[in-house]
Amino acid sequence: MKNNIITYKGRKIVLNKRLIDDKGLDEEMFDKIKELHKKAIDIDIILSNKFLRFLYRIVLFLKGIFSETPYLMDISINDKETIKHYLYEWMIVQYGLQHSCGFMLDKKYHKFWNLTACTCPKMDNDDRWPNVNYVYSDDCHLHGGIVYK
Ligand SMILES: [Zn+2]
Repeated sequence: MKNNIITYKGRKIVLNKRLIDDKGLDEEMFDKIKELHKKAIDIDIILSNKFLRFLYRIVLFLKGIFSETPYLMDISINDKETIKHYLYEWMIVQYGLQHSCGFMLDKKYHKFWNLTACTCPKMDNDDRWPNVNYVYSDDCHLHGGIVYK
């Protein structure tokens, strides 16, 4: 029996056993899903910590210098740009999870309000899920001022 519980950096995620069985996910896919969940946790931790965001901004800058990536991030970029980058990464992880679980890639299923630093109305958005007309809070550190939706 596959272990459907992921514990990582003090967090615990319980994967839906029925979904795993229904979709007939093999060991390889299962491992991939676990890695994606871990990546989502890493991103969430970065997004919810100002100092970590600062550190990762430097990492992104250095990556731009030493890798072949087409973009070169300026060290002077503001916090919003770092947040935007990680929200984008987080979205890619969510698409990865949908793909790995055999679902259609659809942004309306991404529960962005579950990010730790997000202060958008959780109950309203849970009620609306899945939807396209989610409620954003202007003073949300991540989504206020339309950083990345
Ligand atoms: Zn938010």
